[in-house]
Amino acid sequence: MNYMEFTETQKKRLKELGADNYIELSFPNVKERDSKFDQLNTSLERKCKADLLNLFKNVKRPLIKQLESKLIKTLVSVGFVEVTTPYIISKDFIYKMGIVETHNLWRQIFWLDDGRCLRPMLAPNLYHVMKCLRKILKPVRIFEIGPCFRKESMGREHIEGFTMLNIVELAPEKDPFQRLKEIINIVLDAVKLPSYVLNKVEAEVYGETIDILIDQNEIASAAIGPHPLDENWGIFDAWAGVGFGIERIAMVKKGVNRIKQVSRSLTSLDGICLDIQ
Ligand code: ATP
Ligand code: MG
Repeated sequence: MNYMEFTETQKKRLKELGADNYIELSFPNVKERDSKFDQLNTSLERKCKADLLNLFKNVKRPLIKQLESKLIKTLVSVGFVEVTTPYIISKDFIYKMGIVETHNLWRQIFWLDDGRCLRPMLAPNLYHVMKCLRKILKPVRIFEIGPCFRKESMGREHIEGFTMLNIVELAPEKDPFQRLKEIINIVLDAVKLPSYVLNKVEAEVYGETIDILIDQNEIASAAIGPHPLDENWGIFDAWAGVGFGIERIAMVKKGVNRIKQVSRSLTSLDGICLDIQ
């Protein structure tokens, strides 16, 4: 017997409705397939309506925004200060990160004009702020949480506008790697994800980088200084820094395998399909 799958349109619709588990089903004929699709569509739409009502009545905020609030509160309570820097940065800041025309990351940058782009990361702005603050106090403990932008070929774990949480401590009172591990623990305890793995890798910007993995997924990358890039920014002390992807944390928390199910969207709200009859 010839088995058939859902049509591409049906698969797309099932994905929108958050029913990834069903899209690989196969059927002996068109009638059975379409009947199963109609049945799934109806029950999943009903579930979306219930989930949206629950969002309005109880949950009230998307998971990524809840995580943001939780992390801000926790970091402030342990002595970090939140900073708010511009989304638009200068080409000079990109060069000062050692990112040049031949780098992969260069090709991922959204340029606004010859001299300005949307920030692909928070590090350049934080380097700048750190340099100003180091004259006033030490250690300098700061963090920023907000959108970053990279051209991506998309896929399951990449979006072009994502939320980064970058935390840095300049001139820590102990070994920077020890302090880095403490900071990582503070964040992952706050979001109740205590099991993770640290993995040393070679990365484009910082060279030796420490990736933080949960179930093989990179949720953050970290580095410690002194680092060769520091000179460009007038930084001479040791430091510990880490950048988390909030949507990646949300994916792990929610147990979903597509970042679209937690990211900013016009077709869904907190991962719940908005396009229902
Ligand atoms: P990847 O290897 O997954 O493309 P990366 O190593 O290029 O990520 P980093 O520069 O290390 O990314 O950024 C720090 C964190 O920001 C990553 O660990 C990830 O959690 C998150 N992140 C980076 N790019 C994206 C993206 N396009 N979409 C969602 N999250 C992202
Ligand atoms: Mg990384």
